[in-house]
Formats: sequence, C-alpha cells, structure tokens
Amino acid sequence: MWRQLVTLPQRVSELESRLAAMTAKDDLPPVVPMETSARASKYMCDSCFEPMNIIGEEKLDRLDVFGQVVHTLQCPECARVTRKMFTPDDGYI
Ligand SMILES: [Zn+2]
Repeated sequence: MWRQLVTLPQRVSELESRLAAMTAKDDLPPVVPMETSARASKYMCDSCFEPMNIIGEEKLDRLDVFGQVVHTLQCPECARVTRKMFTPDDGYI
C-alpha cells in the first residue's frame, strides 16, 4: 500500500508530460513534404535568411481583413517552419 502511494506522483507527472506533448502538436498543422506544390514566398527565414516556401495556406473567416490568409512557411535550408499572416496589399505582417 505504501509503495503504491510513493509511485503515484511519478505516474501522474509522466501522464502530464505525455499530455503536454500531445497538445503542443496542435499549434502547427502536420508538416508534409510537398516538393512539387511548394511555392516560393517573399518571406526570409529568421535563422538563415533564405526565401521560405509556402507549404500551406488558410483563409481567415473575417470580413474586415478581406483577402488575408495565414501561410505556413518552411525554409528549404534549415527546415524551420513558421506561420505568418499575409495580405495581398501589405505582404507579410
Ligand atoms: Zn532557414
């Protein structure tokens, strides 16, 4: 009985870290390598300043920001992935 009480907090923290790893993945969509459909963007990588490729695009359902989309960008050099707001008039913001 005493032994179970001692090991319980460790099991809880194991579950918590597993849960954190699962929820952290929701921040970014799954990155699928798409060499043929990736488009070059004007956004430069924050790490190595190479032009990043657009690998995903989401339209925002807001009338006040017409035409604004969120691009998922991947750097061909260092494989860094980031998401940026893009507007046709102002570019990346
Ligand atoms: Zn890079």
